[in-house]
Amino acid sequence: MDKELDWKNLSFGYMPTDYNVRCYFRDGKWGEVEVSQSEELNLHIAATCLHYGQEIFEGLKAFRGKDGKIRVFRLEENARRIRESAKGILMEPLPEEKFKEMVMKVVKLNERFVPPYGSGASLYIRPLEIGISAQVGVKPASEYLFLILVTPVGPYFKTGFRPTNICIMRQYDRVAPNGTGLWKVGGNYAASLTAGEHAHELGYSAVLYLDPKEKKYLDECGPANFIAIKNGTYITPASQSILPSITNKSLMQLAEDMGITVERRHITVDELEEIDEAAAVGTAAVASPVGEIDDLDTGKKYVVSKNGEPGPVVTRLYETLRGIQLGEIEDRHGWCTIVE
Ligand SMILES: *Cc1c(COP(=O)(O)O)cnc(C)c1O
Repeated sequence: MDKELDWKNLSFGYMPTDYNVRCYFRDGKWGEVEVSQSEELNLHIAATCLHYGQEIFEGLKAFRGKDGKIRVFRLEENARRIRESAKGILMEPLPEEKFKEMVMKVVKLNERFVPPYGSGASLYIRPLEIGISAQVGVKPASEYLFLILVTPVGPYFKTGFRPTNICIMRQYDRVAPNGTGLWKVGGNYAASLTAGEHAHELGYSAVLYLDPKEKKYLDECGPANFIAIKNGTYITPASQSILPSITNKSLMQLAEDMGITVERRHITVDELEEIDEAAAVGTAAVASPVGEIDDLDTGKKYVVSKNGEPGPVVTRLYETLRGIQLGEIEDRHGWCTIVE
């Protein structure tokens, strides 16, 4: 472990590590996994990723547990999801086994950057795939690069696990109704930057998007899924335009384990009147509690957290998931892969 680093104060940014791993798809097959010490890429000027956005990615984390072991959270789920993203925009899907091999290798090689137990920090793992062969006609590439970089990131909640406010702004959509919303495509993020910055300027942590077709139902909360607790039930939007969050999937399982009813269904804006707790969920934060939801078009303010504190159910779910990631709570569902 690198003793020099100030783990607690690391941001969610980029810091160089020792190695990254790469694998090329050429002549109809994936090659051997290559280890690189370079932070740069040599790309053809006509690569499809540069012109037509053939880029997909993932985000997962490795944690140092209470027992000193390194755990990667939900490796298989991420391996599966990036294959779906690849198929979604006609890229070559990486075999799950290769994904696993690459993640294990890159974490092991950068072991000294896995933050110590108790620091609240973790090693962020960023797999990505790009089309690299030359093309100026609008067509998928014939060659691909799959790359994984890692970087240590600090605790998400630097000032404690506190609610933040989010807003509804109907002039923005993240994705189209039958578009690429259900895949982790870089272009979706480019499309959401204006809305995100606008929300930040107004003092909100994120935009709560409505479904892009009818603007009637809740969709996603910035780059995270939205969940709410209503009369003791866990509710989360069912939609064709949201990314199936692995954190949300995990929290739904934990909720069921706790005897909480889980509903994946349409949630109307009006229903926000009746919710007791809410959170934005994703790998970065696990769960970021919501204080207030301001509908900037109607002027209506939905106060979710009456006392400025996170709700009890969201807190319990958050603590349970964190406990599993850190090896403090038994991993009953086999979600963690130990890096030997
Ligand atoms: C990555 C992502 C999420 C969160 O997914 P996790 O698997 O929980 O990290 C949610 N929404 C969008 C749009 C995303 O890209």
